[in-house]
Amino acid sequence: MHSNWSDQQAQALIEHYGNLGVSRDLALRVYSTRLLGQDARLVLHGGGNTSVKTRMTDVLGDEVEVLCVKGSGWDMGKIEPEGLPAVRLENLQKTRKLDHFSDEDMVGYLRANLLDAQSPNPSVETLLHAYLPHRFVDHTHSTAVLSLIDQANGEELAREVYGDLMAIVPYIMPGFLLAKAAVEIYENDVNVKGLILHKHGIFTFGETAQEAYEAMIAMVSLAEARISQADARVFAISSLSENRADLAQVAPIIRGACAIPGDGSSDDPDRFILEFRSNEAILRFVSGADLPDYARRGVVTPDHIIRTKNTPLVLPPAQADRLEDFADAVRCELNNYALKYENYFAEHNARADPPKTMLDTRPRIIIVPGLGFFALGKSANEAAIAADIYENTIGVISDAEKLGRFEPLSEAELFELEYWSLEQAKLAKGNEKPLARQVVVVTGAAGAIGSSCARAFAGHGCEVVLLDRDGDKVRRVASGIGGLALTCDVTDKASVAAAFNDVAATYGGVDIIVSNAGAAWQGRIGEISDEDLRQSFELNFFAHQTIAQAAVKIMQAQKTGGCLLFNISKQAVNPGVNFGAYGLPKAALLFLVRQYALEYGADNIRANGVNADRIRSGLLSDDMIMQRSKARGLSQEEYLQGNLLRREVKAEDVARAFVSLALAPATTGHIVTVDGGNIAAALR
Ligand code: ZN
Repeated sequence: MHSNWSDQQAQALIEHYGNLGVSRDLALRVYSTRLLGQDARLVLHGGGNTSVKTRMTDVLGDEVEVLCVKGSGWDMGKIEPEGLPAVRLENLQKTRKLDHFSDEDMVGYLRANLLDAQSPNPSVETLLHAYLPHRFVDHTHSTAVLSLIDQANGEELAREVYGDLMAIVPYIMPGFLLAKAAVEIYENDVNVKGLILHKHGIFTFGETAQEAYEAMIAMVSLAEARISQADARVFAISSLSENRADLAQVAPIIRGACAIPGDGSSDDPDRFILEFRSNEAILRFVSGADLPDYARRGVVTPDHIIRTKNTPLVLPPAQADRLEDFADAVRCELNNYALKYENYFAEHNARADPPKTMLDTRPRIIIVPGLGFFALGKSANEAAIAADIYENTIGVISDAEKLGRFEPLSEAELFELEYWSLEQAKLAKGNEKPLARQVVVVTGAAGAIGSSCARAFAGHGCEVVLLDRDGDKVRRVASGIGGLALTCDVTDKASVAAAFNDVAATYGGVDIIVSNAGAAWQGRIGEISDEDLRQSFELNFFAHQTIAQAAVKIMQAQKTGGCLLFNISKQAVNPGVNFGAYGLPKAALLFLVRQYALEYGADNIRANGVNADRIRSGLLSDDMIMQRSKARGLSQEEYLQGNLLRREVKAEDVARAFVSLALAPATTGHIVTVDGGNIAAALR
């Protein structure tokens, strides 16, 4: 590992922030915090923190000594000065004389000593930073250091590698007691460059930002050198049969089985979003003959437990021609995992004071030999964080096994951390949105109605997949809402199949579809060409059927129900002159909704539609609005407001109707009209 320090870049940041009134010390703290945070071998998703001791002016205009320390929730790789809240240093240092300091009291005390009450919570490792005398203190969970110390003889190995360069602190849970113990060990040997926290990570320090950062790089490099001297032992690969199932077949089975059934207050299960990872190193790890042993030993550093649980679920390999057997095995293994987790909780909770409330019993990492691993989260973002952490874990375990035998912390020590109120606080993010944990696929998503639907479902917490023929346009729409854009021709079965495979591979499955893509062919019905009529049926009827079939196949593999939503049209019940070619397939589509409602209700798959009319969109272009209003002797406004409510109906109104149908668990076979009121198009 090499130092990325650049005097030029450091100076540029000092000048940039200097113009904004930020001190040189804090600008340098931002600079080297980013250097550390941008390297996944050192820092991943909140696993690490930094600080600087400096002077600042408080609200009364008095200059005070402060510790600027990483704030909770900030990503070190992208930190800004406000991500390093200033805490009154003297008051922090005074706490060292206490015998007890509960976590809750400590958090309250840190907040009470912030210079700016609006700041985020200072890191849970703040006191350790405060007690050490150095101006700059850096802490990471370096993978190379973890490979070295996650061993039965980890302390011995660390002494062998570091000699008297580093002091070694035995494992203590982060917080007040660790801070006190660590600084006492430092004071016994003040010449060290840093501290190795057994089975946890590494601290380095210095009088300058560069000194602390470069000590980190040098110390991590020593661990890397020790690993590279070890035998390049690789895992013995177990023999896996041919005919392995694809990711798109396996993912919905796992996702569905992991969903936690509704608790009576809601009919919907608590689903998970999946993120799949595979590459050469992952495949070697997940296909190893001893996988059930080394994968189940535990997390590589304690705070990973809140993202990945202590152990992954290891499944049997999945064969393409025996998917039902695989589904049975998944359910059986999940039950075993849940029983083990309940036992672990009961055993350690018996000693907990006050008693804790058990978290859900689902794994967060699921390994399929021969394929890769899945990470589970309440959102795609959460799943990706767990996946990053586990990919990193695979590296640590692989290297630890080269050095000796990977041996992390015991379950008892980890229970304390998994159920530690401060760690739980990192995950609590208030109430979830009503459609959180669900995946919606919207077709025709580049158009006015489709893009409104995509935005509305994203706003209700869904992971959104946007399909459209126009790949560039749909990517632009998706980038605005954080959705997944896929180029797809809904009239082409192969294109639809490929898109749904991508959806299953990306999120694990699908829960809701908004089958929206459509276009109007015009002409007098007695004269219209067969070709036009057939084309209209392809897009306005058969494409909806193709989309629904692809979705239902995944929903049946998940066994957690689903919601099929179709954009029909008032033409389905109220024909317009010269719109027969459009109305006929839409009338068939209305019937299709009822057919799906009838035949899949027992699987809790609901089918509903929206009849919209006169919406400014690709279907009703500005040119058409001009022609039609002219033909009726109306202004464009009068034409668009020509309904009972005398209001223009917007794409957002249609999107709201689709969302309301997705939120109606007892409604199927239903059509909602969104047309401002049109008695001639009323369904009955
Ligand atoms: Zn740490």
